[in-house]
Amino acid sequence: MAVIHELSAVLADQIAAGEVIERPASVVKELVENAIDAGSHEIDILVEDAGLKSIQIIDDGCGIEGDELALAFRRHATSKIDDRKDLFRVHSLGFRGEALPSIASIADVKLTSSTGGEGQTIHITGGKLIDQKPAEARRGTDILVKDLFYNVPARLKYLKSMNTELSKIVDIVNRLAFGHPDIQISLSHNGRELVRTAGRGDLQQVIGSIYGMNKAAKMIPIEGKDADFAVSGFVSLPELTRASRSYVSILLNGRYIKNFQLTKAIIEGYGSKLMVGRYPLAVINLDMDPLLVDVNVHPTKQEVRISKEDQLGELITSAIREQLARQNLIPDGLTNL
Ligand code: ADP
Ligand code: MG
Repeated sequence: MAVIHELSAVLADQIAAGEVIERPASVVKELVENAIDAGSHEIDILVEDAGLKSIQIIDDGCGIEGDELALAFRRHATSKIDDRKDLFRVHSLGFRGEALPSIASIADVKLTSSTGGEGQTIHITGGKLIDQKPAEARRGTDILVKDLFYNVPARLKYLKSMNTELSKIVDIVNRLAFGHPDIQISLSHNGRELVRTAGRGDLQQVIGSIYGMNKAAKMIPIEGKDADFAVSGFVSLPELTRASRSYVSILLNGRYIKNFQLTKAIIEGYGSKLMVGRYPLAVINLDMDPLLVDVNVHPTKQEVRISKEDQLGELITSAIREQLARQNLIPDGLTNL
């Protein structure tokens, strides 16, 4: 048998990348989350060839100090949590310190950042530092990821068509935008703008710029609160439905999550108003004490464990049921006002 030895840092990063970075959309998700965590007001996402040629994210957040740039690319290096206590009270979208090293181990990455003063650019390819030097930059971060998976041929082969990969990018950008109506977010693909939100904090307007104003006008606000949870957002009137559940977005403390139980609770709010096999459009924001959520279940953090999930489900169901019942009291023709 071979002797036991520690894996090299780059190999360890590539193994972690296998979990966190499944496809180009995963890169977009991780980098936009970093920009959100940095307190950005404006985030621009520029993608070429469904992200396989390049993904660039430009933000106006807090930036990274020049002498911390290399550290940001080390595994388990993060500015977001400190100790065990923090792990149970995560307020940021990131905390595992895995995204940058993972991405840099399987792509060519140039990151330019400034905290206000002079900026620095760091260039890393396949986990190898090429160089770091001063650069012109305004406050914020500009990261350019090229040739994703160039050294992981198995991953490249597993990717779907360009259209499918692009639609997954658009999908994740939409959901991140729903969770952050106060941030101006744009996405363009090969020079064509696909998404642009105004960043004025108006969720219905964000829904309008993503699903179309005519659809947003057929969605009504919901609200609910109990001792542990606050629920808010917009759901479609029963006349506006889709054949799939993918128009239901659930955001927990600003994080897009996938949760079957809570999706079911939304649908239950409609009672018999939905035909079998039809689903509403919904954007539901959930606010709760981070202590009630374990986000450390899966590397991508899209599955989370919520304490008192049944209670939360009932709160969502009754908030939707009540609002739809109220809607029935308004004479026809006035519902869209
Ligand atoms: P995590 O987000 O889990 O902390 P990452 O590998 O994604 O780990 O990022 C490592 C660190 O780099 C972050 O904790 C943060 O301090 C810094 N960083 C990354 N992206 C940005 C950004 N866009 N703006 C400011 N700081 C950033
Ligand atoms: Mg991160």
